[in-house]
Amino acid sequence: MYVSEKAPAKINLTLDVLYKRDDGYHELEMIMTTIDLADRIDLVDLSSNTIQLESSSGLVPQDERNLAYLAAKLLKEKTGIKRGVAIHISKRIPVAAGLAGGSSDAAATLRGLNKLWQLGLSLEELAQIGAEIGSDVPFCVYRNTALARGRGEMLTPLPPPPPCWVVLAKPVHGVSTADVFRNLRVDHIEEHPSAQAMAQAMKDKDYEAMNNLLGNVLEPVTMNMYPEVQKIKQKMIQFGADGVLMSGSGPTVFGLVKQEYRARRIVNSLNGFCQHVFAVRMLGYLD
Ligand code: ATP
Repeated sequence: MYVSEKAPAKINLTLDVLYKRDDGYHELEMIMTTIDLADRIDLVDLSSNTIQLESSSGLVPQDERNLAYLAAKLLKEKTGIKRGVAIHISKRIPVAAGLAGGSSDAAATLRGLNKLWQLGLSLEELAQIGAEIGSDVPFCVYRNTALARGRGEMLTPLPPPPPCWVVLAKPVHGVSTADVFRNLRVDHIEEHPSAQAMAQAMKDKDYEAMNNLLGNVLEPVTMNMYPEVQKIKQKMIQFGADGVLMSGSGPTVFGLVKQEYRARRIVNSLNGFCQHVFAVRMLGYLD
């Protein structure tokens, strides 16, 4: 038997850090949505009780450290199933980019194995298992638009954003999320984005409000570590994006525009400044 699953990337429309918790994690409040850029996860059933993994990209681990491998291992432990799987990852989402590529691969593996092994688990149950792998995995299990709280695992679904194009630009280097949080001083945050107002913009399908409300408290921290991120943001504004923000802990910067031709124009203008630049549709959800 064989199952293929799409693992889409996410962007943050808002990302706020409310405080540092006693358990060492940061309490987050953010609005995340799904874009039309995805890895593909192919799963082939094995009668032997083993997990095999290979990826089209040399930039991700090809062994038990890969988040997709961890997902398969955890699912086997939780369900006690004595089956094996060969996982193949066709990687399109840039790695360590703030686009949750690894989390989405893990989530797609959980969804795919649920079908392949006919486990009959609900999305809620898969999200609960996914939370043990990483904070963004539950969001990636649903792959819709949501307000996320806690470490990112407490989700309230939202309607998708108004239709538009997303220009993505990623500097060559990746960013370690842990390093960014280590450099964040919660008491020094100057401006908190409003997740509530952004949620309302989703409900109203208000494109202009969405652009005005974009905000990410990690942006100045990552820009301080990598000034190139700020330069890319300035260029994107200069080249005519309606709203521009860094996604997650970065370093990917995204810009929003309504029309495809404007997205293509920004991509062409940015090509000289940045190695990885492309435009995709905003999706908001993936069935
Ligand atoms: P987030 O936005 O959730 O912090 P990210 O998009 O910044 O994630 P990822 O691309 O998920 O970052 O990669 C983070 C780390 O996870 C990398 O160091 C990478 O080696 C490791 N990793 C493990 N499995 C995968 C995978 N399947 N795809 C990408 N990275 C993976």
